[in-house]
Amino acid sequence: MRVLVVGGGITGLVAARSLALDGVPVLLAEAGPRLGGKVFTEHAGGFTVEHGPDSFLATRPTGTALARELGLGGELVGTAGTRAVYIRHRGRLVPMPEGLGLVLPTRFLPFARTRLFSWPEKLRMAKDLVAPRSMPADDIAVGVYLRGRLGNPLVERLAGPLVGGVYGTPIDELSLDAVVPTLRTAEREHRSLLLAGLADGRKMRAAAAKRAAASPGAKPLGAFVSLRGGLDGLTRAVAASASELGADLRTDFGVRWLTRSGAGVSAAFADGSSARFDAVVIATPANAAAALLAEPLPMVARHLEAIPHGTSVLVTLSYPRERVGHELRGHGYLVPRSEGGPIAACTWSSEKWADRAPADTVLLRMFVRDEGPSTTLPEAALVSAARADAERTLLIAGDPVLVRTDRYERAMPRYTVGHLDRVAAVEAAMGAWPAVTLAGASYRGVGLPDCIAQGQAAAGRVAERLGARGLGEASTARTVAPG
Ligand SMILES: Cc1cc2nc3c(=O)[nH]c(=O)nc-3n(C[C@H](O)[C@H](O)[C@H](O)COP(=O)(O)OP(=O)(O)OC[C@H]3O[C@@H](n4cnc5c(N)ncnc54)[C@H](O)[C@@H]3O)c2cc1C
Repeated sequence: MRVLVVGGGITGLVAARSLALDGVPVLLAEAGPRLGGKVFTEHAGGFTVEHGPDSFLATRPTGTALARELGLGGELVGTAGTRAVYIRHRGRLVPMPEGLGLVLPTRFLPFARTRLFSWPEKLRMAKDLVAPRSMPADDIAVGVYLRGRLGNPLVERLAGPLVGGVYGTPIDELSLDAVVPTLRTAEREHRSLLLAGLADGRKMRAAAAKRAAASPGAKPLGAFVSLRGGLDGLTRAVAASASELGADLRTDFGVRWLTRSGAGVSAAFADGSSARFDAVVIATPANAAAALLAEPLPMVARHLEAIPHGTSVLVTLSYPRERVGHELRGHGYLVPRSEGGPIAACTWSSEKWADRAPADTVLLRMFVRDEGPSTTLPEAALVSAARADAERTLLIAGDPVLVRTDRYERAMPRYTVGHLDRVAAVEAAMGAWPAVTLAGASYRGVGLPDCIAQGQAAAGRVAERLGARGLGEASTARTVAPG
């Protein structure tokens, strides 16, 4: 009884470890030269450069729970300094109103006072307080729905850069049901989104006060967490644990194709070898999974290809601190489309996290907007565009002392309207080959905690099917171990 996991990103690594915990022999095959997928941390000259994600949401407990299970609880770090984020509006950085949830204000005064919107624009938003419910029964684009309730300026200046930015998808294409299903509940329960946001804020503050009273003196980590030495501490620890439990993790070992072999699966690898497995977890982006399934399951492959994937480009820059005119009090800035230019956001990594750069330098992550030709520009043009944006906005003179460019070509899933239906169609069609299961960012959440949950769930489905759930010694030990 042997299981193949295709892809060594966080999803595949977690799936392999979970299977190994259940005592199932696992081979993880990763096409690239290293494990971790999009999670990749570089240490160079006193810098900690994140080439992919730089943090994960602590509010979804699978990420922090996994770190603690791996003995990394003491390594979890929250963000440093002032938590302010700015929006560039007419060329100037305006602080985002405090207490903003993903899209809705959770406090009234900071929103009423913000310089980001004029009074007529705020009055337009206030129409939501009296407007009847308007949520359609079917999925709708987040931007289209919010424009109807709260007006264009909120979508253009806040929701678009914030939510569209995180998902690398224009907000007028982004699926409400896949990305912010809470808006549906908010409208159902409160009718007005603004009233729902404020009610949410009251609940969150009461819960925080309760937590503080329960453990006085404890400093909460905050909404976003990372690991002291960088995020790949997590993927390295998952890989080490999986190996210790007996999983065979191989890099430069891409899977070329999969075919049926009795009730199991036969896999062919890039080195020309092939082997038979009882089950397979495919933990690659959906387009790579489509290529593997095109022959045995053409219908599934077609559904997988219908999940669009965009390109993500990140330019990391560092400058001597003395050359930066801006005081950098906060974590970065977002750039609404109306400001023009190919840069969507800039994170001030050296200010957001402790010990990411030598004290006399600043470290910036510049995200390129995946719209129009921006992400297809040659590397030199991308660096020039990122430099121009940072240098103009933050009043920087002179050249950067560190430059890195990362391009994830057609590897970022876009959760466009109808995403959940497309995933449901894939899952239904997969019923034709129960030996193969899919997991990862393309399906049910792009954030690391969602990927971890999907890796664990996929392993659970496979172990169940093979009758191995809970059979492994490690799994039994885990169940009875305190904490
Ligand atoms: C720039 C950037 C910033 C991000 N920021 C954040 C953030 O701050 N917080 C957050 O939570 N998320 C963030 N994300 C999203 C998050 O990083 C990803 O959604 C997540 O890492 C995806 O993990 P995965 O294992 O599903 O896929 P991947 O990491 O893409 O791993 C899939 C692996 O499959 C391999 N593969 C593909 N085809 C084959 C094959 N045929 N055979 C074998 N192997 C194959 C690939 O080489 C790859 O290693 C960010 C993403 C990017 C790109």
